[in-house]
Amino acid sequence: MTQLHFATALLPEGWRDDVRVAIENGVITAVETDASPGAAKRFEGAAVPGLPNVHSHSFQRGMAGLAERRGRACDSFWTWREVMYRFLDRLSPDDIEAIAAWAFVEMLEAGFTAVGEFHYLHHAPDGRPYANMAETAERIVAAAGAAGIGLTLLPVFYAQGNFGGAPPVPGQRRFLSDRDGFTRLMEGSRRAIAAVPDAVLGVAPHSLRATTLDDLRWIAAQWPHGPAHIHVSEQVKEVEDCLAVHGRRPIELLYDTVCVDRRWCLIHATHAEPHEVDMIAESGAVAGLCPVTEANLGDGVFDTTRFLAQGGRFGVGSDSLIRVSAAEELRALEYAQRLRHRSRNALGVEGCSTGRRLFEAACAGGAQALARPVGAIAPGRRADIVVLNGGHPSLAAAEGDVILDAWIFSADNAAVSHVFCGGEHVVSDGRHRARDHALTRYRETVRRLEAI
Ligand SMILES: [Zn+2]
Repeated sequence: MTQLHFATALLPEGWRDDVRVAIENGVITAVETDASPGAAKRFEGAAVPGLPNVHSHSFQRGMAGLAERRGRACDSFWTWREVMYRFLDRLSPDDIEAIAAWAFVEMLEAGFTAVGEFHYLHHAPDGRPYANMAETAERIVAAAGAAGIGLTLLPVFYAQGNFGGAPPVPGQRRFLSDRDGFTRLMEGSRRAIAAVPDAVLGVAPHSLRATTLDDLRWIAAQWPHGPAHIHVSEQVKEVEDCLAVHGRRPIELLYDTVCVDRRWCLIHATHAEPHEVDMIAESGAVAGLCPVTEANLGDGVFDTTRFLAQGGRFGVGSDSLIRVSAAEELRALEYAQRLRHRSRNALGVEGCSTGRRLFEAACAGGAQALARPVGAIAPGRRADIVVLNGGHPSLAAAEGDVILDAWIFSADNAAVSHVFCGGEHVVSDGRHRARDHALTRYRETVRRLEAI
């Protein structure tokens, strides 16, 4: 058994001082308040639950900064996607593992303790499956195991280039599956995650543009339990193409086609009309919001204000990993609404800390979306705990909820001092225990890729 003692901690009932947490087999077994440290290891900072990261394409970490140059035509998500396709064309399984391992190290150093890896880079560069169908899924699992992050693996089904059965472009050939191939991929992925004790397997139809409606129904029926994630309504063009072919908007079409319930996570949902926002809230599905990537790609702004007013659930994700920061995702979410409504504390409620409201909502929504017992420091939950450094200047006079506000709106990653993941002490004084090895391997990989 491991015992930890925190000067202060955010528990489900609120902030408490002198909190002693007992952990067995990665799970919290007891939480005492106003307790003496006894034999427990003492931490002076403020303990909060680790935040789940609901949406990641880890390989994209390797291209951060490579698409920030304006082309001749107006740049957009679609021109960015061309750069991304050229980048991924060079990646070997070793490269995929090295980049993922570093991305997961960065996530832990940023206060993310679990990740939903929306994994679609399945095949060799020529589009042929590897001899081991789940080769790249195994690499993601190995990277998560090395970093010690909680993993929900979401193998992606991708079958067409656009709505209406448009043929795939060459840049998409590494993603493509037919039903038989995808079934084998799921079986291989299930075997792969067995290497990590508490990993979860979900399923991810890529988007309505990449799957037929029949395929979508088939996936929902074939894998009726566990997390189901899908990209939806990220781009205006996507909505227009969907309307042209199906006469329905993507979110409407999704709800018409399958039973969208609490196991679903709708990634982006950016261009949702008010009735679609309400539909998502009412269904209990999680909106997987990725505000930093959505800003980077010029996607648009989801109406989070309306969604929260309707009781909607959300999680945050770092998606393209152009930046890896739990605090920044929450800050960007709030700032987009401030700019949109020209107000402050746009997602807050009267008299309450906006940081705490966003953080607790993202913890709960993230835990639901990844089907993991996380998001709170409480008995029965996985021991995913982040300690914020009270010595950081932004936190110097902070107590209670102000600690969260100071982290999210000011200190950012620099406030994260210790991270426990499944009870393992993976980040100490801001540094991941495998940082040097993972960074060396990552640097070698991206430098070699740059030279190609
Ligand atoms: Zn994505």
